[in-house]
Amino acid sequence: IPTTRIDRLLGSLGYGSRGEIAQIARARRIVLDGARVANVAKRIPMSPDLTERMTVHGAPLDPLLGMVVMMNKPAGYICSRKDSGPLVYDLLPDRWRHRKPMLSPVGRLDKETSGLLLLTDHGDLLHRITSPNLAVEKTYRASLARPLEGHEVNVFASGELMLSGEKKPLHPAKLSVLSPTEARLNITEGRYHQVRRMFAAVGNHVEALHREALGDLTLPDNLQAAAWCLLNADDTAKVF
Ligand code: URA
Repeated sequence: IPTTRIDRLLGSLGYGSRGEIAQIARARRIVLDGARVANVAKRIPMSPDLTERMTVHGAPLDPLLGMVVMMNKPAGYICSRKDSGPLVYDLLPDRWRHRKPMLSPVGRLDKETSGLLLLTDHGDLLHRITSPNLAVEKTYRASLARPLEGHEVNVFASGELMLSGEKKPLHPAKLSVLSPTEARLNITEGRYHQVRRMFAAVGNHVEALHREALGDLTLPDNLQAAAWCLLNADDTAKVF
């Protein structure tokens, strides 16, 4: 396990500049293995169990590299770092904006789409879920402007549906009709505005879209809109 200076570690996790971290230490607000940290220049091994052994301002240290956050994204928030307007990052602790590497959304949701969004700093995971070859199944629930006509299930399952402006047909997708204007859709690709464009291709219009699951990972019922939690390795393995 590589070692690092405590102030450099805390800096990379977004807790502050070197000066600010020295100040937190002087205020006796950094504790390692039950003892106050006085010298932030000290080198320590970067072991994952630091989250159990170190506290900052009385709270457990944030996870080191390899953190995966699950959010119940509300409609109206943008999966981007730079846009003006409400960003999904506004719903996370402010210091995480200063983490290096940054947390990135794993497969973005449109501004008006709600539901399961993962964010991670783990490059490998990011690559795996967005890779077309690995086909992680995404489950969406769509509310539609017009009643379903009945042919949509077969059209989506055909593997022949072409979205306007594209050269390759969509892979087969599974549509489950829940009511005349509510449906669940499972897709394995992630093309731009895919679900909205699929319903547009069959003459309908998506009024509300919610992602319920990624792979075998389902949004827990008790995770309210705008709330988030950290994923452990078992839950992460349900997706990747
Ligand atoms: N398909 C869409 O059209 N929008 C999303 O946000 C996700 C899938």
